[in-house]
Amino acid sequence: MKVQRVFIVGAGTMGSGIAQVCAQSGIQVFLNDISQELIDKGFKSISWSVGKFIEKGNLSESKEAILNRIGTVLDFSRANEADLAIEAVFEKLDLKQEIFRKLDESCMPHALIASNTSAIPITELSSVTKRPEKVLGLHFFNPPTMMAVVEVIKGVTTTEETIQAGMNFLKQIGKEPIRVETDIPGFLLNRVNLVGYVEAIHLVEQGIGTVEDIDKGMRLGFGRRMGPFETGDLVGLDVSYNGLKAIYEESKDIRYYPPQLLRRKVKAGELGRKTGRGWYEYNPDGTRKEK
Ligand code: NAD
Repeated sequence: MKVQRVFIVGAGTMGSGIAQVCAQSGIQVFLNDISQELIDKGFKSISWSVGKFIEKGNLSESKEAILNRIGTVLDFSRANEADLAIEAVFEKLDLKQEIFRKLDESCMPHALIASNTSAIPITELSSVTKRPEKVLGLHFFNPPTMMAVVEVIKGVTTTEETIQAGMNFLKQIGKEPIRVETDIPGFLLNRVNLVGYVEAIHLVEQGIGTVEDIDKGMRLGFGRRMGPFETGDLVGLDVSYNGLKAIYEESKDIRYYPPQLLRRKVKAGELGRKTGRGWYEYNPDGTRKEK
């Protein structure tokens, strides 16, 4: 079954990016957030990004045709039209559970409900619904318009049919699914990546190397497109911090204990690109300030 309509909760970095990918693939989208201002902000970033894709010749449709597929909504009244709902709100368990309860009440019985959570076990979200077998994780990477991979996460009660439907949806929107068989915090790829990020921060804390040199080295020595601090600024220091905390709390594995320098930066509001300052400083147009 092809997904025809998607309801997305949260019009931030991830929700708006996922909305754009769906609309570009011909899917009707309803994009929800808590205020008109936030929805407008998300829609504006989609409009800008679609324009860039068209400029580069990467889309065959007009901007208008793509944007016309995105309806913005302040409530859940249109969730009952969707085949799939995707939650992309802040990484907070009680907030996500509240959204899942509301989606479960509003969505049609056949609809799947997915979370884009980076670390919260899917089972903790499915357990508040009356359709736990239809709940799964669809973990997109930032920015969803550019990153081809998406982790498909199985909760304790998720059925194989739901996993297959999730994988088919991802192929429909041109993404490459990776299966994650158990909903451990951090799933597969963040668990691998965060260990290196923590180590890089410790090396800076100890004065052994600089942020700039470690990033440069990882790009030139390991062929990565971005170093750990560049990725950290893009993802958001708060997002990685919360992810590390969740993995550490569950596993008590010291490799994931959030470094003090990261914690201090988060407390100071230095969250990366989105606040203009993280490991690096940024100009209002998003370009990096030269040192
Ligand atoms: P964000 O802060 O950019 O956006 C979150 C949005 O959710 C905000 O616009 C906020 O207003 C909205 N929201 C909050 N409460 C709401 C409610 N009750 N109803 C509707 N909308 C509400 O966050 P983000 O970076 O897009 O992250 C969203 C989720 O995706 C998180 O779970 C995060 O862990 C995950 N994630 C983030 C990244 C990343 O790199 N940023 C990557 C993968 C997954």
